[in-house]
Amino acid sequence: MKAPWTIIMEYCQVCGKQAVGEGYVEGARVPLCPNCVQYGSRFQVYDEYKPRAPAPRPRLQDDVHFIDDAGAAIKSAREAKGWDRAQLGKRLFISETDIRAFEENRRKPTPAQVEKLEHELGITLLAKDAPEEKQKKDSDARPAPAKAAGPRKAEEFTLGDIVTIKKK
Ligand SMILES: [Zn+2]
Repeated sequence: MKAPWTIIMEYCQVCGKQAVGEGYVEGARVPLCPNCVQYGSRFQVYDEYKPRAPAPRPRLQDDVHFIDDAGAAIKSAREAKGWDRAQLGKRLFISETDIRAFEENRRKPTPAQVEKLEHELGITLLAKDAPEEKQKKDSDARPAPAKAAGPRKAEEFTLGDIVTIKKK
């Protein structure tokens, strides 16, 4: 039986978290954590982690959503840094094709990629669901026009108030 202190402590070459195996990134064999396995090829799990790894990709939390046009946010932040897609991709170990897909809103980055993009570009791609948004998600049956009526109703109410005051 193995003593618990023989556990390998290798650190992920990409993000610095505890690695669970090794894969090839840009031709070099490097330790990778479960989140960063996707950036390596020919990944091999350390024996110690074989029963559990590779871990499934983490999913987005239930109460967050991507901001409107997350793609445009990525694109403009990238351009502000003066990087082309390949340059940004290289910094984040994300392919140029993926960067393009994110910018054109054809694909959503994984949670790990979101973290990298947000950190590298200094942007926020996720927002917490507002309570009413959550309600909307729950009862998705109704069509949109109800939303536009909101502010107008308030105006009408104000006008009505004035009329009432004049009458008095
Ligand atoms: Zn990592």
